[in-house]
Amino acid sequence: MTWGKRVAVGALLLTLVACSDTKQTAGVTPQTRAPVEPVRTAEPVRPTFAPVQVRPGTSTNVNVMPVLDHGPRDKKEVALTFDADLTALMRRRLVSGKVKSYYNKALIDELRALHAPATLFLTGMWMEQYPQVTKELAADPLFELGTHTYDHRGFTKSCYGLGTVPPGQMLSDVRRAIVELDRVDPHATRWFRFPGDCYDATALHELAPAGVTAVGGDVPGGDGFTKSPQPIIKQVLDHVQNGSIIILHMHGGDNAPYTAQAIAPIVRQLRTRGYRLVTVTQLVAH
Ligand SMILES: [Zn+2]
Repeated sequence: MTWGKRVAVGALLLTLVACSDTKQTAGVTPQTRAPVEPVRTAEPVRPTFAPVQVRPGTSTNVNVMPVLDHGPRDKKEVALTFDADLTALMRRRLVSGKVKSYYNKALIDELRALHAPATLFLTGMWMEQYPQVTKELAADPLFELGTHTYDHRGFTKSCYGLGTVPPGQMLSDVRRAIVELDRVDPHATRWFRFPGDCYDATALHELAPAGVTAVGGDVPGGDGFTKSPQPIIKQVLDHVQNGSIIILHMHGGDNAPYTAQAIAPIVRQLRTRGYRLVTVTQLVAH
């Protein structure tokens, strides 16, 4: 999808979801006026059309899933995004006690303390593992939630050893996570992220009926398996530009152990450089 088309779709979505109540202006009653029967005010003006619920990221393209890699380059806005991976292997490590948690609470606490908005992409399996946390994240206006497949397998033949979802199962896998998220989040977006950002024409075609938009990114944060926060900070700050979508992770554990320590320096430096942090929905809203 060209940028122009994306903007046009965004504008359409905004038009569809915008529905402001018409407020009655309070009438001023003169002090000398005697009490009278309560005056029946006119009914608030209602729109004549039924409000249409369109969630951010909803794709109307029936042939191929659209992909969004960045926002407008002429505005000093960037979007922080965090993936919550959980694979069958990771879950076995949790069950065996080798890893205590794949919820990086310290990272979420940092984002809240910094008042840094973010878009979170959750796997279905992660939501099943952390149902209460998922509800809390859904209820927090700082965050918007999208999906990241059910169990984080790859959508191409080879994707960082993640295994492969056969084409015939791609749609049901993605929908499984969407259903899981919709159960707990009435504001769930229709943003979606491929595991490892791996996709091809087959995947985009198979997933078109899911009605979601794939969100890639132009700044991979490189927070997987790092030995310290410094490489993450450098990677993000060296590559960020107007409209960037920054990809990081929120599962922590042994897979992304230093994201929480890296995030405060990143956020502060981005703000010092004049960037406004926004969600993906806000990034493309203009
Ligand atoms: Zn992932």
